[in-house]
Amino acid sequence: RPVVRMRGIVKRFGGTTVLDGIDLDVHEGEVVTLIGPSGAGKSTLLRCVNGLERIDSGTIEVDGEQLSSTEKGLNHLRSRIGMVFQSFNLFPHMTVMDNLTVAQREVLGRSSDEARQRGAALLERVGLGNRADAYPDHLSGGQQQRVAIARALAMDPAVMLFDEPTSALDPELVGEVLDVMRTLADEGMTMMVVTHEMRFARRAADRVVLLADGGIAEQGPPEQVLDHP
Ligand code: ADP
Ligand code: ADP
Repeated sequence: RPVVRMRGIVKRFGGTTVLDGIDLDVHEGEVVTLIGPSGAGKSTLLRCVNGLERIDSGTIEVDGEQLSSTEKGLNHLRSRIGMVFQSFNLFPHMTVMDNLTVAQREVLGRSSDEARQRGAALLERVGLGNRADAYPDHLSGGQQQRVAIARALAMDPAVMLFDEPTSALDPELVGEVLDVMRTLADEGMTMMVVTHEMRFARRAADRVVLLADGGIAEQGPPEQVLDHP
């Protein structure tokens, strides 16, 4: 059973059809990278999966449940999806640990101890075990993005969505974020990744999906899609 199942996704902005009938499944443990020209609708597709954009027609299921536009349905669904944005989107007035625990407590109802334990384990995992008490603006962009990844993982999502997670970073900080993503991929996390990092796609993706003109122009293993003449 696919973790994400999309059928006939149509998304318009005003009179412009950005996604014109997308069918796409992402299976458990699969890493799918979405590539394509700027404006192709890659980011919009991720935002539709996360319910940040409403689709005009089609169906999206995550973890066997259909995305419904009711507020309750959306909140439940979002708790199954980890989203990492280009801009790190941490809460600036909260320490790293508080960033990691707030939704665990408020959305999942975990105790403070439980949430902190999980947070600490994830900070270790992204190489930031000693920065729990720091505020985001005292961290580098690469560190902030790793915190954002840990925060998303703390919710035990069924799938992680990455929207150009390294585009806002100085070049020397890109590798440390890609390393964390690559480890997650190796560990079997289900992931959809919009990225311009073709070397990441080549090394970490099970499947590369090329979006163009509102549809899937090509898809397949990285060597097939990326080495296309
Ligand atoms: P990509 O991620 O592939 O660069 P996007 O999904 O960001 O593409 O955008 C696809 C198209 O949809 C672009 O033409 C963009 O201008 C348009 N678009 C995206 N978001 C909005 C919005 N909120 N309102 C109007 N147009 C939008
Ligand atoms: P190479 O090993 O090919 O000489 P680097 O490892 O220095 O190059 O990284 C260069 C590019 O490779 C990065 O900009 C990024 O696109 C990609 N990259 C770096 N680290 C990783 C990683 N852990 N997983 C996937 N791609 C990576």
